[in-house]
Amino acid sequence: MTRKIAILGATGSIGRSTLDLIEAAPDRFEIVALTAASNVEQLAEDAERTGARLAVVADEALLPQLRERLSGTNIHAAAGPAALAEAAAGEADLVMAAIVGCAGLAPVMAAVQAGKTVALANKEALVTAGALMLDAATRHGATLLPVDSEHNAIFQCLAGQDAHRVARLILTASGGPFRCSTAEEMANVTPAEAVAHPNWSMGAKISVDSATMMNKGLELIEAHYLFGLPGERINIVVHPQSIVHSLVEFADGSMLAQLGPSDMRVPIAHVLAWPERMATHVERLDLLAAARLDFEAPDELRFPALRLARQALDAARSAPIVLNAANEVAVAAFLAGAIHFPDIAATVERALDTMDEPAPNSIEEVIALDLQARGVADRMIAELAA
Ligand code: NAD
Ligand code: MG
Repeated sequence: MTRKIAILGATGSIGRSTLDLIEAAPDRFEIVALTAASNVEQLAEDAERTGARLAVVADEALLPQLRERLSGTNIHAAAGPAALAEAAAGEADLVMAAIVGCAGLAPVMAAVQAGKTVALANKEALVTAGALMLDAATRHGATLLPVDSEHNAIFQCLAGQDAHRVARLILTASGGPFRCSTAEEMANVTPAEAVAHPNWSMGAKISVDSATMMNKGLELIEAHYLFGLPGERINIVVHPQSIVHSLVEFADGSMLAQLGPSDMRVPIAHVLAWPERMATHVERLDLLAAARLDFEAPDELRFPALRLARQALDAARSAPIVLNAANEVAVAAFLAGAIHFPDIAATVERALDTMDEPAPNSIEEVIALDLQARGVADRMIAELAA
């Protein structure tokens, strides 16, 4: 029996790594649906090559182009939010959620409400709607499998363990490209310098998040929801080699860690085959070449995003949504050359100080709060740019 797969965000970094693994194991997997934001050509090419039955472009204005490109095939072309939800809730057994940002929330929820196994790369969806998503997963019998390398590492370390005997989780962070930079040096870094990650090749947004360390802040919140531990029992340790992907400490003092190469195809393969394992052609970790593992304390003064994320997790209410939305807006502004690198965290901090609403009761409320926080951040960035 092959496992039917839908990939939300198939044209991105995680999407392409997923396709790479799936196409190398045609006896195990079958692609049923692929989605993309706007890259019609790549989407159509992937859909034709993999035999997908549904191809969805998020931007509705591009539907005529996708239809034209897929005419004469039996691939159904569709566009817009309802079609994204259809790709997520349709015939797939496993949905790879690899859209970047809160834009992925509605399709992820559609998959959860359809009781799917959801391979979750799209951490922003869980950060903004964690409690609602977990509740829906329980009600609809959906399974969430963490793709993020740290959370996948913890998930692997917890297999077969007594969850009540977990003392703490330790998330490792590479420290990003500015791990050794001073605050003065970081004031003038360019987008190209910020996206040049030392160990991982990723999409632009998460690369900037790694440079500010907001990525680890989002992962702290993600870990809180996935593993049910309070923030004070989730530690962050800088580990520049990105070999130990995270650790679990148990009540007896034992620590379990997961190690592997810095290649997202390893955690992706783990969730695709789970609860079994599949072979990959990924280059192996060479322990002798790596030789050493270093660990350092994170510096919340140079990387204020870490402090802000912890603050948002503790504050709860609308704070994680505001943190995420302001960060998405500020990262886009930084990538567009409109603001400086330190303005990203400064914008997030001002947005958190400005907006405080009760916790949302529905996904519609999450999306409304996200929009409101984007408006707040947009105004702050307009002031900075003026
Ligand atoms: P990416 O930018 O390379 O790809 C994003 C994908 O989402 C693309 O297919 C794009 O077309 C689609 N998309 C973007 N905006 C959209 C919108 N508004 N509506 C619908 N689709 C849209 O990003 P990525 O690096 O692959 O990251 C994807 C997610 O996985 C992010 O949440 C990221 O934090 C997480 N993640 C990525 C990595 C990595 O190594 N790249 C590692 C861990 C977690
Ligand atoms: Mg990660």
